[in-house]
Amino acid sequence: MLAGKNAVVTGSTSGIGHAVASALAEAGANVMLNGLGDPGEIETTRSELAAKTGRTVLFNGADMTKPDEIAGMIAQAESELGSVDILVNNAGIQHVAPVEEFPIEKWNAILAINLSAAFHAIRAAVPGMKERGWGRIVNTASAHALVASPYKAAYVAAKHGIAGLTKTVALELAEHGTTVNAIAPGYVWTPLVESQIPDTAKSRGITEEEVVNDVILDAQPTKEFVTVDQIGQFAVFLCSDAAASITGAILPMDGGWTAQ
Ligand code: NAD
Repeated sequence: MLAGKNAVVTGSTSGIGHAVASALAEAGANVMLNGLGDPGEIETTRSELAAKTGRTVLFNGADMTKPDEIAGMIAQAESELGSVDILVNNAGIQHVAPVEEFPIEKWNAILAINLSAAFHAIRAAVPGMKERGWGRIVNTASAHALVASPYKAAYVAAKHGIAGLTKTVALELAEHGTTVNAIAPGYVWTPLVESQIPDTAKSRGITEEEVVNDVILDAQPTKEFVTVDQIGQFAVFLCSDAAASITGAILPMDGGWTAQ
């Protein structure tokens, strides 16, 4: 379905990004991976995906807090893959704390990685998409792009910001064969969710088990975590020609969370 297309997926050494990159490669796209982690493990991830799919799979370790490195990642993909037809802005971090105690450096890092990095990558990739008259930009937002939860000031602000960025760039690219959408997942079982459980327990004064059952799954009427594979398949659909008329949309995939 995506044969001949080239994709960059930020934050794809783990979790949702890894599943999206895998699904895009399975669908025929060449992929540039990005993210943090142990170099040996990243190389194993890269080579296994290339072997499994027969696609070109590259890695660029750009730090999403550094605009120059983000521009360099897009430039490397354009020169080594030939183009960036699909850009998935997915890298993200979380921090949970009451607003009056929220560490300033955490606020700055979350805004940089979860919001500004998408702007820098889009800014670098759009000229090529306009030139070719085809592109797909998929931003990993969150249910927190549509609703808030306490103790997540920076994350909710950044995710509401990415919703605005998605809509704005969609309008700018509407006549250039390029769609811009955001997937807004509810809770997905990944390291990002797992690692916030102790802090949420502390902030709310409850046990970690109560966080999973009474806070996390309580938000989702299905009482089930969204899976990374479901998100991967949704991203592939958004990159297909069948999805050419979907643009500027913030698309919940949240087990009914934001329907409440
Ligand atoms: P994860 O921790 O498994 O993956 C995050 C990825 O981002 C990793 O590859 C990590 O290396 C990368 N990353 C972090 N900081 C980086 C930096 N400075 N530079 C480059 N890469 C960096 O988490 P995940 O749950 O897969 O999250 C992926 C995205 O999905 C995030 O934007 C997150 O906000 C969003 N999301 C997650 C959930 C959930 O429940 N897990 C729900 C909604 C949205």
